Amino acid sequence: MNEQALSSLALKDVSLIGFCKYDASPIASLPYAVSIALKLSDAVLSTIADEPTPMYFQHYRTANAILDATAFQLAREIEMLGYNAFPVAASQSLGGEKRYEGFVAHKTVAVLSGLGYVGKSGLLLTREYGSKVRFATVLTDMPVERQRPLIENGCGSCTICKDACPAGAIYGELPGLNGRNFDAELCSRYMKEHFQGIGRGSVCGICIKVCPKNKLR
Ligand code: SF4
Ligand code: SF4
Repeated sequence: MNEQALSSLALKDVSLIGFCKYDASPIASLPYAVSIALKLSDAVLSTIADEPTPMYFQHYRTANAILDATAFQLAREIEMLGYNAFPVAASQSLGGEKRYEGFVAHKTVAVLSGLGYVGKSGLLLTREYGSKVRFATVLTDMPVERQRPLIENGCGSCTICKDACPAGAIYGELPGLNGRNFDAELCSRYMKEHFQGIGRGSVCGICIKVCPKNKLR
């Protein structure tokens, strides 16, 4: 019931929504989570050849803004139903030595919600859109249950993202759910050193562009 009401609200603005019990929630009193995902534009992604583009950077930021607004709105709706809710922004950093970590692992929540699996690229691959998606999360004490089955990793022996990464940041191996399979610092440093004029690090997009699970229209 809760899931149905939230889905009909959120799916007007985003592409996918999932629900789960999130035992690793950083707020113990909010042990449930809603994962929302927004599909990126195929046309914008097609501007990436072997380096990032300003168009992709701007699109990435707009997608984040839409997700943030939708998570905010969902949290308000959950509060109006009498529960607590905490919207977590699409792009987040704990800062300092933890600058490559977020308050909530959006990908973990998405996996637990049955929206996809973490590929060797470190990106979350959905069945519907591959990794052409951005995510945000809402933590809540409103009981919700996963509505979709968990999805098994489908990378197999593929190493295309590892081979294509200009920073050498992708290990090409599969981790566990919370394991690391790419070096976020290497990725970010490469971006800052080579593409200062485009925007802050980690929006190169090549690992999204080359993944065979992401057939561009
Ligand atoms: S965003 Fe670019 S540099 Fe970073 S892991 Fe992906 S391909 Fe490598
Ligand atoms: S490029 Fe291949 S190995 Fe990398 S995430 Fe996509 S399917 Fe997995």
